Amino acid sequence: MRGFDTIVMVDWSSGNDTGPRPRKDAIWAAVNRNGAAEAPVYLRNRLMAEEWLTALFDQERAAGRRVLAGFDFPFGYPKGFAAALTGSADPLTVWDWFEARVEDTPKHNNRFDLAGQVNLALGGGKGPFWFNGLQRDINGLARRKDEYSNPFPDKRQSEQRTKGAFTCWQMGGAGAVGGQVFTGLPILARLRRKYDAAVWPFMALDKDIALVEIWPSLTVGPAPDDQIKDAWQVQEVARQIAALPEDRLAEMLTVDAPEEGWIFGLGYEAELKAPVLQNDCFALPPGVHWTPVDEALALLQGRLAPVCGVETLPLGQAAGRLLAEDVEAQRANPPLPNTAVDGYGFAGGRGAGAHDLPLVKGRAAAGDAPVVVPSDHAIRVLTGAALPEGVDTVILQEDVKVDADRLLFTGPIKQGANTRKAGEDVDAGEVLLHAGRRLTPADLALGAATGNDHISVRKHLRVGVLSTGDELVDPGTPAKDGQIYDANRPMLLSLIAQFGHAPVDLGRVQDDRSALRDVLDQAVPQADVILTSGGASAGDEDHVSALLQEAGAMDLWRIAVKPGRPLALGMWQGKPVFGLPGNPVAALVCALIFARPALEVLAGGHWRAPQAFNVPAAFTKSKKAGRREYLRARMKDGAAEVFGSEGSGRISGLSWAEGLVELPEPAMQVAPGDPVRFIPYASFGL
Ligand code: AMP
Ligand code: MG
Repeated sequence: MRGFDTIVMVDWSSGNDTGPRPRKDAIWAAVNRNGAAEAPVYLRNRLMAEEWLTALFDQERAAGRRVLAGFDFPFGYPKGFAAALTGSADPLTVWDWFEARVEDTPKHNNRFDLAGQVNLALGGGKGPFWFNGLQRDINGLARRKDEYSNPFPDKRQSEQRTKGAFTCWQMGGAGAVGGQVFTGLPILARLRRKYDAAVWPFMALDKDIALVEIWPSLTVGPAPDDQIKDAWQVQEVARQIAALPEDRLAEMLTVDAPEEGWIFGLGYEAELKAPVLQNDCFALPPGVHWTPVDEALALLQGRLAPVCGVETLPLGQAAGRLLAEDVEAQRANPPLPNTAVDGYGFAGGRGAGAHDLPLVKGRAAAGDAPVVVPSDHAIRVLTGAALPEGVDTVILQEDVKVDADRLLFTGPIKQGANTRKAGEDVDAGEVLLHAGRRLTPADLALGAATGNDHISVRKHLRVGVLSTGDELVDPGTPAKDGQIYDANRPMLLSLIAQFGHAPVDLGRVQDDRSALRDVLDQAVPQADVILTSGGASAGDEDHVSALLQEAGAMDLWRIAVKPGRPLALGMWQGKPVFGLPGNPVAALVCALIFARPALEVLAGGHWRAPQAFNVPAAFTKSKKAGRREYLRARMKDGAAEVFGSEGSGRISGLSWAEGLVELPEPAMQVAPGDPVRFIPYASFGL
């Protein structure tokens, strides 16, 4: 079954017609078709909402597009209500029951009277419904909570898991959903019948139209000041759902709640809430000319957010991946108190002097279920065995004599000696590993020991790598005079792989704006972020920066760093583009210092500064004030030596080096033996 093409989200209202001018507390709907958002639609009453939905469904069906339609009211009632009302636990019988009885016009509806009738039939006139929004009294519908009692659970399972969800029994008042269910379900019942729509989560979603329960407040924050909350919320939810990869949406829609229904997105809030990168996310504050390295890094750190989806993997396949959610201990480690040594176990400590305890038969070895040892008896125990009941102290086998069936030893020995307490390492429920961590082999041991078998990790960040320049040719083809081999692409592609991301080779493009535009367009569906090299400055042939500037979403970051030319940072159709310098030395340094931490955040990881070490210099250098400098360096006999030439064309120096020496912005004289900061390539994950 293919995914959904059109997402439409609806914020319902049980109020009367709200007039022609768009306003809050009316019905609002937002469409997102194939990822493109449309402006929210104001629907002043339910009659118009039903007509609008009918027209939309007709149009989408005619165009062969699958529709996911979300509505912000419960699709089912708490357990027991459906069967009491209709004789069947199938919630869709409740839909039909309401459809047959609710009278609804733009200025009037019978929901309070109907609620009173249900109360008289099912709850002696005291419940389950309450709240009378009318002037006149209604038989069976309490006005006050103290006259009310509910024969059914107050909340559905899904609502118990959320903060601030209203119960569906409250028929009116600000935020109440009871009236929305009464007025919404009849319309959904008709739409379902007319379009043979699937209703979530009661039916398989193998139809062209699926109706799904949503609750925007679960994943959408406050609206911007100039927008109506309901309009903003439906648009945001539509965007969040449209942004999900098909398989991820399918996983979120896999829910087992046959009677009460469920709220879409419950348990996936953080993933759905992930912010989108704005087009201006790389804009520098006005008036900035040269940006110090630390400021540039802080700006990047503040602007970026994860763009990768999430998948669930068996623990054993997750090494090197970024955790999407915290991992908790499913059980304690150790799960039971156990013995740390081979020896003999008994209860309590013993004072100085000779001791003699009868030995019970058998032994406790690792993996054995605990047996019971009577008081003042001892038992043979082997390392890792759970302590038998009645044992809290273990004596080393080297410190005892065994005579027939008696244990002989000399005290003192403290109570608890040579044992490990249950949970002394990790308690059940403890958070072991936090979202954003890159999983190490040791993390897998910790996760496995505490009973985790599947974990939620980020999908790989797809990083496109593109070389630009008329002078470039591919290795393996003859190079004419003036031509050079493309050195950056193999370097950057392998760098990306070593960072733990998925490299995507976008090839090479000439210094030609329309060719570059085409390549970037083609990159959009294949990559989550694009690294280019060359053409990033402000010259005539610097088409990367020119093109991004044209798209209105770029800033040239003039960073006070050597080696390095301006970095062109921009957005191309929602994808971040890092325009690295063409020079391979500068390209590598900028990729390590700026792109690496940025990519880690885009991938869902933590911003991490590379680990650096203060070591003595093995070189002499006179450094000018202004820029931070990175020298190609390596360790020899405990001191950092640097490559003979600082020339930025010297690729051999990159390869010679095993790391970088970082010299701060101020002027300085470095003499042999002076401390300098050395960053091994390994600190960058290489
Ligand atoms: P650009 O930033 O395009 O002006 O390039 C700066 C210098 O880097 C020029 O000498 C280019 O020839 C060189 N260069 C650009 N791209 C590459 C590449 N992919 N491989 C090797 N050298 C390159
Ligand atoms: Mg160039």
